[in-house]
Amino acid sequence: MYKHYPNRPAKLTKEFVDQELAKLIARVGPAEQAGSPEAWLDLYRDWNSLGAYYSGEASRIGYAHAADMADPKWDEADRYFREQVNPAIEAGNAVLLDAFLKSRYKDAIGKHYGAYLIEALETGVEPQAPVNSDLRVHASDLVDQYEKLTSAGEVVVGGKTMTLSRARGLQSDQNAETRKEAWIAYRKWFLEHHDVLAGIYDRLVQIRDEMGRNLGHENYIPLGYLNMRRTDYGPEQAKAFRDSVRKYAVPILAELNAEQAEALGTETLLPWDVNYHPAFTLPTGIAPIETQLENAQHLFDELSPRLGAHFARMRKEGLIDLENRKGKRPGAFATMRPDEEKMAILCNSTGDEGDVGTLIHEMGHAFQGWESQKIEAVDLRWPTSDGAEIHSMGMEFLALPRLTWFFKPEDAKKYRRHHIHDAVNLMCYISVVDEFQHWVYENPSVKPAERDAAWVRIWDTYMPGIDFRGVEDYKYARWYAQSHIYATPFYYIDYAIAQTAAMQLGMIDAQDHEKALATYLKLCEIGGTLSILNIFRAAGLRSPFDPATMRDLMDWAAREVGIKEAVEAA
Ligand SMILES: [Zn+2]
Repeated sequence: MYKHYPNRPAKLTKEFVDQELAKLIARVGPAEQAGSPEAWLDLYRDWNSLGAYYSGEASRIGYAHAADMADPKWDEADRYFREQVNPAIEAGNAVLLDAFLKSRYKDAIGKHYGAYLIEALETGVEPQAPVNSDLRVHASDLVDQYEKLTSAGEVVVGGKTMTLSRARGLQSDQNAETRKEAWIAYRKWFLEHHDVLAGIYDRLVQIRDEMGRNLGHENYIPLGYLNMRRTDYGPEQAKAFRDSVRKYAVPILAELNAEQAEALGTETLLPWDVNYHPAFTLPTGIAPIETQLENAQHLFDELSPRLGAHFARMRKEGLIDLENRKGKRPGAFATMRPDEEKMAILCNSTGDEGDVGTLIHEMGHAFQGWESQKIEAVDLRWPTSDGAEIHSMGMEFLALPRLTWFFKPEDAKKYRRHHIHDAVNLMCYISVVDEFQHWVYENPSVKPAERDAAWVRIWDTYMPGIDFRGVEDYKYARWYAQSHIYATPFYYIDYAIAQTAAMQLGMIDAQDHEKALATYLKLCEIGGTLSILNIFRAAGLRSPFDPATMRDLMDWAAREVGIKEAVEAA
């Protein structure tokens, strides 16, 4: 059984971590010499509950810091955790991990917790290597700088000063002038901060490259894959995946963009019109913030009382921070507090259609987190992110038939069409981000301008039919707004891999709702106990790496958005 770590101090300090990990390390020798695995099992159990405690602390501090990045109290707590506590954790963990993986009782422990535990822990060796300890702290400081800069960023649209998140929301405004102004203001902010943003990234690339080479790799890429805890695929499979996207998704996106331009009355789709389709985009402000939680409650209750209960608990316990504010970290995330067996989410809602998808997405993560609390090994409660995004993106598809809790029936239909269009668009855009990052870490010593040029070249491969004439520099401004490129290298393709499962859930749901829901709940229960391809297999889903899967998903999407004939005729 999972148990709480005893004698927790009021504040988690570096000294406490050093002391407790030293006690655990001292138990390794006797456990190894014992005639049965009992002592090692006890040791692992205590190590596990210590891990739950500090990942709970990391979650609470990170959440409070994200809620107000300008609050000095949480800024200091976050810095202390990143610069003092985390290196101490990594140093002690590296010793324990090494002892565990060499232990003669390793398999006995694996048998108790699930064989994947050993494979999952093996991926953690290099990312925690002591040789890179200082470099990791340095990298996390740079990411923090990036996040502080973007969370404080403000622009003026329509005479009003607003956060970058709000300006981003206005890019789907029904008023053509407003969305153009918002798009220009948003991207211009990144161009105006180009040199400092490019400088932060350049240092991150150098640091990461050095970390990879310190471990004997040619560059950062193999370490980046281990950081994502990948066991089932490498850069070659990722490349083949992108090739499938190019073959099956890009032609459909080209059709969709041409159709959208025609609906807008322009020859080619203009960049500030990408987020607006006159027939399908819902007006801004359509989902008032004060109604979002109540509407979502109805939706989840109707979908599954078991999931609805998790949501009700989060509302009651203040585990949902919904509204956008200045100083709040942009974007949205879900976080697990394994020591409390709780989940929390943070969004940046502005009252628009996109908020609904984001809230449902983050709740998909939260549902998995709640359902996975019964998994004893904390390391197996949260899957690799390609698996984790199945729950979030899958929930977005399962919610589609129930969006009448948020919108009028005709608007819910438009939303559905928009969502499927978006799924195709996302496959293509993710491929840009993924190919870009491979290029960046394969060419670590290039100048920032060469990175911008690479982005443009790769963008043009996957994102057809958008006319940037006259605003060419605004094309590469996009990647500076993509926080994953800074904070979590190689994460982005995980959304595309997960989307192949999420779309399959949508297809199953259209035929058999009970089956789709049962598959979803099974995925939640699996949590992180299996590797990504085994998660697909165990849930009865087709492999993301089979090109026929991509072909059939895109075929389905094309049919759903009504351009199937156009593609076949082309
Ligand atoms: Zn997510």
